[in-house]
Amino acid sequence: MAVPISTVSESREIRGLNLIAAHSHIKGLGVDPATLEPLSTTAHGLIGQDKARKAAAIILKMVQEGKIAGRAVLIAGPPSTGKTAIAMGMAQSLGAEVPFTVLSSSEIFSLEMSKTEALTQAFRKSIGVRITEESEMIEGEVVEIQIDRSVTGSNKQGKLTIKTTDMETVYDMGTKMIDSMTKERIMSGDVISIDKSSGKVTKLGRSYAKARDYDAMGADTKFVQCPDGELQKRKEVTHTVSLHEIDVINSRTQGFLALFSGDTGEIRSEVRDQINTKVGEWKEEGKATIVPGVLFIDEVHMLDIECFSFINRALEDELAPIVIMASNKGNSRIRGTNYKSPHGLPLDFLDRVVIVSTHPYQSDEIGQILNIRAQEEDVDLTPDALALLTKIGSEAGLRYSSNLIITSALMATKRKAKVVDHKDVERSYKLFYDSDRSVKFVAEYEKRFIN
Ligand code: ATP
Repeated sequence: MAVPISTVSESREIRGLNLIAAHSHIKGLGVDPATLEPLSTTAHGLIGQDKARKAAAIILKMVQEGKIAGRAVLIAGPPSTGKTAIAMGMAQSLGAEVPFTVLSSSEIFSLEMSKTEALTQAFRKSIGVRITEESEMIEGEVVEIQIDRSVTGSNKQGKLTIKTTDMETVYDMGTKMIDSMTKERIMSGDVISIDKSSGKVTKLGRSYAKARDYDAMGADTKFVQCPDGELQKRKEVTHTVSLHEIDVINSRTQGFLALFSGDTGEIRSEVRDQINTKVGEWKEEGKATIVPGVLFIDEVHMLDIECFSFINRALEDELAPIVIMASNKGNSRIRGTNYKSPHGLPLDFLDRVVIVSTHPYQSDEIGQILNIRAQEEDVDLTPDALALLTKIGSEAGLRYSSNLIITSALMATKRKAKVVDHKDVERSYKLFYDSDRSVKFVAEYEKRFIN
């Protein structure tokens, strides 16, 4: 069974990039690990929403202690009150290895696959499998490096000969190895190790004696002195991939290239059954551990009754991630029915849900958030510019005002200024409309044309 090459932390950077960029200043929940009370520093990027942050931290603790299986969390509150930001904070606190998948509910209805397939994929993207492998390493001092590109005629491929003091080895050099050699600036005289399976080259030092200073290599490194004098060591390497990645790579109709295009289509249920069995075996043999991640479903009121019954069942599965949902609607109709219910969620589903609510911001909190966003985007604001952005944020919404930071910076660049002043903000406010003004403007025009 093939194991995919991209890892959870890599793919998590690619998926939902737009959504994540708006929250790139969020580094965690910013709570005291002992009391779970929000810290007064802004180092983690979150401002205010103390109750919601504390609730989120308690939920995380329950997750880590395995006490929240089969449940879901709903973050409910008005638009732009940091629901997504808090979910991101939770994900950051869990660490890079834990998968975090963002699903916007409207996506479910636009993808070229059934709703349940889209949900199944989202669930499986949110379950990590930590795979432990022993990799064989070769180590020695480089006496000479020769790259014979005539073999393939390509810059990225060739035949690499590394002569070491103990051995002479010829490698077919792939892109990974050449990148790794260039990055590490390997020269003759360096002591290097080569991971045979991945082709990764690591520079250990300049002299053989230095290479024998193994303390820095970590406790999980075993050394085997081979009879021919070649020094080999085996190191346990782990990487985490998602169940979905394993599904795609083992699905005959898709193949691993689909992982890059994102166009994975539907995956047959037999493939998933096989993968579940295989992963179960790896677990038994101590080769893999399951890392339950987070599935964040935004605009959850957009889902319909079929989706809710699917999620309800999926939460009972042994391999369920933590499902965090967000809604900015109060009482609304459950799609696919004629019934109204809180946040558009069916009542039997609401029973399983822990609700955390977010509240509108005071203007000083809006000012602080905008200040952090400006720093994140490398934009210098005069106090007047920040005050105006804050006023706009209180009236037209935090997201709109946050978007004005970069457009105002462009205005400042145009007049060759390094610092954005309130005039730049004013200009950009006049040029780019918030949704309320835009609706009014269109309505005005409609009136003129109809009359
Ligand atoms: P919606 O209901 O419209 O989806 P939301 O409640 O999910 O909105 P966010 O998208 O989290 O709101 O917030 C809007 C912007 O403000 C984002 O860039 C977010 O990172 C930032 N933000 C919101 N609240 C906070 C906060 N408490 N601290 C720091 N940044 C915040």
